[in-house]
Amino acid sequence: MLIFTKIAELRAFLKGIKDVNQSVGFVPTMGALHNGHISLISISKKACNITVCSIFVNPTQFNDKADLKRYPRMPEKDAAFLEKAGCDVLFMPSVEEIYPTEKKETYDFGYLNTVLEGKYRPGHFNGVAQVVKRLFEIVAPDKAFFGSKDYQQVMIIKALVKQMNSNIEIVNCPILREADGLAMSSRNTLLSKEEREIASLVPKIMQEAKQIALTTGIHEAKQFVSNEILKIPDMKLEYYEICDADLNELTDTKQVKNAIALIAVFVGKIRLIDNIMFN
Ligand code: AMP
Repeated sequence: MLIFTKIAELRAFLKGIKDVNQSVGFVPTMGALHNGHISLISISKKACNITVCSIFVNPTQFNDKADLKRYPRMPEKDAAFLEKAGCDVLFMPSVEEIYPTEKKETYDFGYLNTVLEGKYRPGHFNGVAQVVKRLFEIVAPDKAFFGSKDYQQVMIIKALVKQMNSNIEIVNCPILREADGLAMSSRNTLLSKEEREIASLVPKIMQEAKQIALTTGIHEAKQFVSNEILKIPDMKLEYYEICDADLNELTDTKQVKNAIALIAVFVGKIRLIDNIMFN
């Protein structure tokens, strides 16, 4: 696996790849890699000739400075993990390399930026769009692979690509979970043993709520989630919403069959998100 830290060197390498008509798949990450990330690498490897993974903890997408500071960083371990997974190229730029000037860009994602993560993490998607646009311009992949654990992020990236007039194909990949159902996340490493146990209740509550929504109703499912989470010490609910595929909140239980439920909770200080499809 080749490792680049400089944009110019990565670009020069990728030019050689594109000149011989090899397709490039791209998996952007913030590191502290787990099997969820590796699943994206595997999907990219099947779809493209060359797979590029980036590791960059993007400061502009953190609305909470303490969250940025505590975000796990383990570059050597990540590089070894990627090498083993057969990734071809790792791009690990510095903050100065990505943001040489303090250039502030503003994006308009309309409604999508006003709900769920957009509502509770003001500025988050603007920062995501800023870095992904920069990375897309550097790597210029044929396809880019994103996890549906960050369902709303995938929608934002699709909107970004449209705004960029780009023909990069955005591939939405399934959520990988731990044996007890907890969605894999870099932030899971920040949980204490007790918090980790508590966190595993989230997917269980989501499953039960799905059944309640399908059999009884949306209101009852929401009530169930908020009651269950209130009972758990050290867990705080930020939101639980049942939406259509475009993330419009559903109120009519008749529409619930094709819904997606999305949740954000705090376990201690650590914020976790998850979602579940109803169909
Ligand atoms: P992150 O490093 O958290 O920014 O994530 C990088 C990419 O990996 C994003 O597209 C995420 O949606 C994806 N990802 C994170 N966790 C998982 C998971 N458990 N299963 C599948 N993809 C994931």
